[in-house]
Amino acid sequence: MSFQIPRGTQDILPGEVEKWQFVENTARDLCRRYQYKEIRTPIFEHTELFARGVGESTDIVQKEMYTFQDRKGRSITLRPEGTASTVRAFVEKKLYANASQPTKLYYIGPMFRYERPQTGRYRQFVQFGIEALGSNDPAIDAEVISLAMNLYQTLGLKSLKLVINSLGDSESRKAHREALIAHFEPRIGEFCSDCQKRLQQNPLRILDCKKDRDHDLMGTAPSILEFLNEDSTLYFYKVQQYLTANGIEFEVDPGLVRGLDYYNHTAFEIMSNAEGFGAITTLCGGGRYNGLAQEIGGPETPGIGFALSIERLLAALEAEGIELPISAGVDCYIVTMGDQAKDRAVSLLNNMRNAGLVAEKDYEDKKMKAQFKAADRHQAKFVAVLGDDELANNVIAIKNMETGTQEEIALDQVITYLKQKTM
Ligand code: ATP
Ligand code: MG
Repeated sequence: MSFQIPRGTQDILPGEVEKWQFVENTARDLCRRYQYKEIRTPIFEHTELFARGVGESTDIVQKEMYTFQDRKGRSITLRPEGTASTVRAFVEKKLYANASQPTKLYYIGPMFRYERPQTGRYRQFVQFGIEALGSNDPAIDAEVISLAMNLYQTLGLKSLKLVINSLGDSESRKAHREALIAHFEPRIGEFCSDCQKRLQQNPLRILDCKKDRDHDLMGTAPSILEFLNEDSTLYFYKVQQYLTANGIEFEVDPGLVRGLDYYNHTAFEIMSNAEGFGAITTLCGGGRYNGLAQEIGGPETPGIGFALSIERLLAALEAEGIELPISAGVDCYIVTMGDQAKDRAVSLLNNMRNAGLVAEKDYEDKKMKAQFKAADRHQAKFVAVLGDDELANNVIAIKNMETGTQEEIALDQVITYLKQKTM
């Protein structure tokens, strides 16, 4: 019997995993600088949290969740995204009561969606996301967007496009909603059955329909921007002003919508323009959700965040031909000749590692030539050659693999020497 990995999942092996670590470390470092703190929530939650928090009418809840009953018959779902869990924890653990507000959180971890697997679309994928809870300042919207852009730019991506929109406050959205119904109602029969349901439920989501995207009424639909009241217009203006002040270019796209009722004001997406990136170009999506905390039983709390997947980020790096600066090599590989030298190498290696050096040796009783080959495979900067003769004189030969030069060093000086040369 042989086993295969489930569809839509990946094994990330050595050689590849270093890229993930590099990206994740870069994200963590950015969060530290922007003062977002990590939160780790469970991989599974009660299904009801996502039904409420992500929204009954979304594709995620209707078609994509991994839901099962546990042994006591409770409905459990593997998390499809991170915002609902983060806000649940914020409410349940009363983070809103902390003196320091807004509460700025980030997460990195696997998410699960039953989707049709293709490049950039997996059934298990890793999202990095941030949430800022408790502030209604447009500067925080600009900060959240800036952090996402900063991550991509720090990693070297150039072909980026940021689009933003405003969904306004509830008053603006209500006026827009009525205009949308008036626009689509006379010809709603020409739309798919989903859109027919959406007309009264949530007409904004018609604009997001993938089936009817080419219908002529789509292009002429009333734009949300015409319905923004004064407060919402000013808010959107401020977000744009702060983005510009941060040196971030953007386009306003009134067609960028998020259907759920608790989304308001800022919505944004970051896309890759890179040639050969393929059909799926969205790298990151985010927006403001001032009604979410209340929706899941907490106090009314403004919030904004984004989520992006590491998979798509790495695909964008590949499309742009960007190599991450990952150092794979060891500082020193110890090559031994003779039994005493072999024994002595055990503690020498251990001491090197304790001193902070990246060090390795042979464990297969290889001949000297094969040990040197292994040193090459480990991309060793230095090879330390220890034979029984050297040992008798308390010295060791150190070969610089880049220059090919060799020096004899006192055995008790070798670590100091290597540290000087490599750190
Ligand atoms: P899409 O339109 O591509 O399905 P989405 O609207 O479902 O995206 P969000 O729920 O907003 O995406 O998730 C935010 C980000 O997470 C996306 O911009 C994308 O980078 C990533 N993402 C979403 N689904 C997947 C997936 N199945 N595999 C890999 N990355 C994903
Ligand atoms: Mg999706």
